[in-house]
Amino acid sequence: MTCPHCKKFSGHRMDLHAHLIDEHAEEVAVYVEDDGVMYFEMSCPLCNDSVKQPLKKRASVLDEYRREIRLVAFDLLLYHLMEKHPEEED
Ligand SMILES: [Zn+2]
Ligand SMILES: [Zn+2]
Repeated sequence: MTCPHCKKFSGHRMDLHAHLIDEHAEEVAVYVEDDGVMYFEMSCPLCNDSVKQPLKKRASVLDEYRREIRLVAFDLLLYHLMEKHPEEED
């Protein structure tokens, strides 16, 4: 799979997942809205389809939880890529 953000990285699903975490962590926005609910938001760079999901954790744990949120968010992105933007097998 090719990285949809930089198009420079290509590898197996797990390797791409690690690359996304390492290089494109900022593509997943994690923030707290006025209602005190924490959300993450991310969009697909290929089709601009975006997801926004509320998180159950309290905002006070946001910093330590951020990495975990990104793990989950990028997992969703990989599923989206496989479903909506399949690549030719080489
Ligand atoms: Zn990349
Ligand atoms: Zn897409």
